[in-house]
Amino acid sequence: MSRHSINLTDQVYEYYHSVTLREDDVMQRCRAETARHKWAGMQISPELGQLMGLLVKMLNARKIIELGVYTGYSSLCMARAMPVGGKLVACDVKEEYTSKAEEYWKAAGVADKIDLRLAPALDTLNDLLNAGESDSFDFIFVDAIKEEYSAYYPLNYRLLRNGGLMVIDNVLWGGDVADPDNQTAETNAIRAFNRMVHEDDRVDMCMLPVGDGITLIRKR
Ligand code: CA
Repeated sequence: MSRHSINLTDQVYEYYHSVTLREDDVMQRCRAETARHKWAGMQISPELGQLMGLLVKMLNARKIIELGVYTGYSSLCMARAMPVGGKLVACDVKEEYTSKAEEYWKAAGVADKIDLRLAPALDTLNDLLNAGESDSFDFIFVDAIKEEYSAYYPLNYRLLRNGGLMVIDNVLWGGDVADPDNQTAETNAIRAFNRMVHEDDRVDMCMLPVGDGITLIRKR
């Protein structure tokens, strides 16, 4: 028995993937091609993608928001898990990356479920609120600008329905959040965000050491 989560050595991680991942060809290709990209570290881990797909199915999510698309792996995982007629509002500002994402969405046959918004995430969230879409989203995945995490949160909270779920990526930030000597703007922004969510009694929450750390937040 350990008080810690298990230490994932390369050998354990490889075994773990061999008995959990269920990626299709398009997901494998997206992940392999993105791994050669200069910002490859921005791609979510495949186990996180699979977890999100499972959560989307458990919630029977039909309306999803994604903040931070990159080359589309996470949106592929969520869109595949949505029922026909489901809609995923995918927010990013870098067309250079989302044009790749669009190729994978088409190849996977999920392009018609995805509404790509090339604009700052805060603008798109405000647009959705102004369009009367409060309390209507089932699932929101946040993986965009770390300094804006605390600004996304109240908007996402309003857009989410009761019982809906937010999943926030990078909350352990490579461990930097636990290092008091690390005072970068991004690290401090994630610390402040983590503290705020922990103290917010309007939600149920649980942080998990998956990938770079995620927090699951359920609106009560
Ligand atoms: Ca991330």
